[in-house]
Amino acid sequence: MIGVIADPAENEVVREFFELFKTPWEFYREGRRYEVALCAEDVRFRVDADLVVVYGGQQTHFDNEQNTLCCAKPGAPRILLFQKDSIPIYGNTVCFSGCRTRLLTVEDSEECAAYLKQNGASWFARIGYDLFTEVRTLLTAGQPPAQAHLPTLDLHIAFLRQLIVGCGIAIAEIPPVPEGCSFIVCLTHDVDHPSIRQHKWDHTVFGFLYRALFGSLRNLVRGRISLRILLTNWAAALKLPLVHLGVAKDFWRDFDEQYLALEDGLASTFFVIPFKNNSGLVIEGKAPRLRAASYGAGEIVDVIGKLTAAGREVGLHGIDAWCDSAKGRLEFEEIRRLTGNLEVGVRMHWLYYDQQSPAVLEKAGADYDSTVGYNEVVGYRAGTAQAYRPLGVNCLLELPMHVMDTALFYGGRMGLSREEAMPILEHLIQNAERFGGCLTINWHDRSLAPERLWDACYRDLLQELKNRGAWFATAGQAVSWFRKRRSVVFEADSMERSTPRLRRKSDPQENLPGLRLRHHRGSASCGFSEQGVDGFVDILVEESVAATVPAGVGK
Ligand SMILES: [Zn+2]
Repeated sequence: MIGVIADPAENEVVREFFELFKTPWEFYREGRRYEVALCAEDVRFRVDADLVVVYGGQQTHFDNEQNTLCCAKPGAPRILLFQKDSIPIYGNTVCFSGCRTRLLTVEDSEECAAYLKQNGASWFARIGYDLFTEVRTLLTAGQPPAQAHLPTLDLHIAFLRQLIVGCGIAIAEIPPVPEGCSFIVCLTHDVDHPSIRQHKWDHTVFGFLYRALFGSLRNLVRGRISLRILLTNWAAALKLPLVHLGVAKDFWRDFDEQYLALEDGLASTFFVIPFKNNSGLVIEGKAPRLRAASYGAGEIVDVIGKLTAAGREVGLHGIDAWCDSAKGRLEFEEIRRLTGNLEVGVRMHWLYYDQQSPAVLEKAGADYDSTVGYNEVVGYRAGTAQAYRPLGVNCLLELPMHVMDTALFYGGRMGLSREEAMPILEHLIQNAERFGGCLTINWHDRSLAPERLWDACYRDLLQELKNRGAWFATAGQAVSWFRKRRSVVFEADSMERSTPRLRRKSDPQENLPGLRLRHHRGSASCGFSEQGVDGFVDILVEESVAATVPAGVGK
């Protein structure tokens, strides 16, 4: 059991951190002995535990007590090295001199930013930053694009876990990995342009023609695409007048058939725009005209019907729901009306979002949001692949988005070729295998068609995800699985044992995979090993235990 001492102003952050690092913990009670005491503020009473971990980006009285010299390090983010990993710290950091067992070092100066020492039979670790300030920053402002590739929040969890286990303390955990798979993957599709014919001769069509005719030629010369792709794009551009005349097939129209064929029975989620010709609002007034879509969901009821009949989820691709809950309610209502689903999730068009958005979306009736990601790069805006509850909301969960096709391939964004994209995707898959969670991917509706033709990369990615044992879930299913995991409480049977109990038994119709209970054994002899000493066993958490708990408690 971990006892946590933190500023009460951080209680919500502490609770959310321990939903993501799902292990037995409680707020520290004086007089009780803990295996681990996690001090996130400067305490002046004696803390009794096998391992005392003191986090803090400023000098604390522990430092005076331990006689450690500490110096503040200005500038952020500061990169701390944890074995082979880099952890960026966005708030205050301090460094220590004269430490023997270094846990973290500063990347550029190699100073010690965290150390471990033994005091008789117990351990003392001093970590030179504020853990919960960092978690708050990640879950609100998020990381700048330069740090997008680092799953920082997942690394904070991994570091703390390894510190505990490395001190020989066994812990239990419900890892963010469903039973029977290695991680979760959500395939999602923002439906922005389900027909080129509907665009007449607007900026979208001129953009299409420019990229199909000239962009393709430039890419061929640079060796980024094949001759076959160039010719396919030129043929599509030449055929465009016939598409407008209704003689030739609208090549953006059959995205649903193409995705259903390519995904071949795998779950996926399509986010559709509720109303046409509405660019929506920004805080200062109207959004750019280009943001308006040339269709509304009501015009593609046939597509929505086909997708839902094939077991796909249809969610809201919101216009104003991020900033105006009254307008948002109308947007959700439109999707409920067309799909017949009461619980509707959302991703905002153009990823419009600010720090009030979680509360605004919850008030508008969103079941979950999947907007937190980047337009310009791929990676971890919130530093995690886990679904989390944004601060200040009651029930809404955020399923962060990690990969968007346009970020990978568009010039001015990452501008990668298919061959360059795969190693970047491979890095994200490796992180998913290592930390668990849900890798969320957004391939747009028209990305399989000319002039993008990004189908080959998508096909490679699907094959790789299948080979690696991912569970393909709709965004709604993934969020439900995380809710099920969040509903577990650890009940102390005695001072030594905590048994996980589910407060919410999942609906049999949800057909969700089970939860694992992971026992990390702890490695008493070697302290914090450089090699990584973690050994663990997993057992399935029996859902039947939920029957012993009163129904209707929590969601
Ligand atoms: Zn969009």
